[in-house]
Amino acid sequence: MSNTPAYPLLLSPITIGGLRLRNRVLMGSMHTGLEELPDGPQRMAAFYAERARGGVGLIVTGGLSPNPEGVHWDGMSCFHTEEEAARHRPITQAVHVEGAAIALQLLHCGRYAHHARGVAPSALRSPVSPATPRAMTEEDIERTLNDYANAARLACWAGYDGVEVMASEGYLIHQFLTLRANQRQDRWGGDLAGRMRFALECVRRVRVAMGPAPLLIFRLSVLDLVEGGSTWDEIAALAAQVEVAGASLLNAGIGWHEARVPTIATLVPRAAFAPAVRPLREVVGLPLVASNRINDPAVAEAILATGDADLVSMARPLLSDPDFVAKAQAGRADEINTCIACNQACLDESIQGRLTSCLVNPRACRETQIVIRHAPRRRHVAVVGAGPAGLACAVTAAECGHRVTLYEAADHIGGQFKLARRIPGKEEFAQTLRYFDRRLQALGIEVHLGRRVRADELAAGHDDWVVATGVRPRDLGWDAQPAGRVMSYVEAIEHPQRVGRRVAIVGAGGIGFDVAELLSHPRSVQPAEGGQGPGEIEADGWTEFAAEWGIDLSSHARGGLLPPAAPASPREVWLLQRKPEALGLRLGKTTGWIRRTLLARRGVRMWSGVRYGHVDDAGLHLVVQGEPRCLALDTVVLCAGQEPLDELARLLRAQGQSVRLIGGARQAGELDAMRAIREGTEAALEIGR
Ligand code: FAD
Ligand code: NAP
Ligand code: SF4
Repeated sequence: MSNTPAYPLLLSPITIGGLRLRNRVLMGSMHTGLEELPDGPQRMAAFYAERARGGVGLIVTGGLSPNPEGVHWDGMSCFHTEEEAARHRPITQAVHVEGAAIALQLLHCGRYAHHARGVAPSALRSPVSPATPRAMTEEDIERTLNDYANAARLACWAGYDGVEVMASEGYLIHQFLTLRANQRQDRWGGDLAGRMRFALECVRRVRVAMGPAPLLIFRLSVLDLVEGGSTWDEIAALAAQVEVAGASLLNAGIGWHEARVPTIATLVPRAAFAPAVRPLREVVGLPLVASNRINDPAVAEAILATGDADLVSMARPLLSDPDFVAKAQAGRADEINTCIACNQACLDESIQGRLTSCLVNPRACRETQIVIRHAPRRRHVAVVGAGPAGLACAVTAAECGHRVTLYEAADHIGGQFKLARRIPGKEEFAQTLRYFDRRLQALGIEVHLGRRVRADELAAGHDDWVVATGVRPRDLGWDAQPAGRVMSYVEAIEHPQRVGRRVAIVGAGGIGFDVAELLSHPRSVQPAEGGQGPGEIEADGWTEFAAEWGIDLSSHARGGLLPPAAPASPREVWLLQRKPEALGLRLGKTTGWIRRTLLARRGVRMWSGVRYGHVDDAGLHLVVQGEPRCLALDTVVLCAGQEPLDELARLLRAQGQSVRLIGGARQAGELDAMRAIREGTEAALEIGR
């Protein structure tokens, strides 16, 4: 056996500003919504302490504004007074006890405010904001800079090891830096020196206010991805002067919030933006942090090995698995519950003002509510169905000390979720099933694959029954004549080569969009098996992704933007829905626009207000916005939702058995993997109590 430690670069210590960090993993900033809860400090202490216990070197908190104008929305907490700062002492103490360092992120959102008091360098509304901000006066600027300094002083007083000054993603400081948002003609705008003044003055004042505290992290945008964004020369000039002004670490930011280029969604190849940090080596001596879509220790190690950066930032991966670092350290990286970058339970919730969590880890931000411990009574539990609901239930029940037997009709685990990984850009979904597979083995769960359970088989031998038999695709009863013309999404996803050149997709929910993505993708006519394995950096994926979205990593073009070049669709595709509204409005808040944009660029026709007729030799007969039409087609793919597969539960109940029914089998409407995994976890926690 080799004695080489796992991930030697990632797990090696580094000293910054005199502070020794135990490894190179920085937990990136995430506003979770815990900040606003009455018991927020206790819950944040539990949340961060769990990540620190799991081995993270340095934690950066969710962003807090140094004054009330800088918050995103009314009611959001800020970091302005001694009373507010005192609430943070339990957090810093809890993290330090576990051996990690922690810095507070200072974030003034400027024109991204969702309230009437928003201020910005110029009175220019952003495309993603509801209101036009007020242009800051000289007095506003002076006061705001002092508020940053005051907040930094208070942070150190509350026990933080320093602060991160958020100057990327299009927030206030970034707004001052760019022509896009700063049209001032006074000394705070105009030429580059004028536009940089606010950022540099902020760093200088914060440095002084922090006293001897070691960490002054500057989050610098290395790629703006918006028109009117910075050029490389401007980024380099800023980085050099930020170092002189007193920063101790540069953390890379990618893209403004209003950018129309995906930066963290699951279709972004792993570590795609890490090379954008490297050129900073030529202009600063500060340690550098790479970020975005780094979700695997081998990928992080590879970035450090290239010399592109000195640390890696991971945010969502530590929601998914607080023990990420500890597992990597112990040589158990294959047991990491990998972030699949879906945004469903984290960003999509957070931007609607709801508490953040994680699709694959419902305990995230509920550490004090969902506590996994042995149940007082050990039971023998039968779980039927190994989709996300059944898998989460089986694993959690075993973690609670029960003996668990899992039955699955198919010859593999995963249920409907297993189909998702075949969609281009969703390959990461395979990681969740790899994780569950490892947990089933590690916990000694008895798994029976290829075993369709009947009601009479289950009665004996088990104390508790959980039915997670999931869903079946809705069959519209359309005649499949001529043979093969109408098919379910399951067949289309598993055998895309059977789908003809002219295809209509009936139903434009999440699955309809996924099927349209697959069938309009060149890869669907040359199907490839498998997904990213742990540790792979998708070099080829990057070329395709960069071309499709028009990205110039070098930022030689202003904002790092080039004209996008979408690949031609190998098929003519129509995506249809009955509702009169635009298609895709109910997709994820932070990802729906990406999916609509991709399909539109590939020429997929998206029709709403459709009434379906019948399919015959001529094609699909329908009425569109009141006008009768017949689409000549090779294939119709049904993506018209699902129905619950609950016969087993009904039969068991009819026999007088008490069963727990979870996931799609309980209710197919409004079902997604987030609800399935949450219900599976919650059901397991009730057993034996
Ligand atoms: P299922 O996944 O249907 O699993 C039920 C399991 O029970 C199956 O494996 C079945 O074989 C087994 N079973 C049934 N009857 C028996 C029996 N009698 N005995 C033994 N075993 C039995 N959700 C998201 O949240 N985000 C996404 O991005 C996403 N993308 C998707 C993409 C595609 C292409 C598809 C098809 C689905 C996607 N979903 C997504 C939806 C998600 O996969 C489902 O919501 C989830 O799988 C439902 O979980 P479940 O465990 O309730 O049911
Ligand atoms: P869905 O989102 O409920 O969409 C079903 C679609 O079928 C709707 O567009 C509906 O719209 C149409 N439909 C319903 N009944 C019909 C009928 N009788 N005849 C014709 N059309 C009908 O369900 P889904 O697309 O099957 O997805 C299942 C779950 O997986 C959802 O919860 C979804 O969120 C989740 N998922 C999520 C993602 C993601 O990226 N987040 C991706 C895939 C799946 P009209 O009635 O207006 O036509
Ligand atoms: Fe990652 Fe999705 Fe969990 Fe967010 S919800 S942390 S994106 S797996």
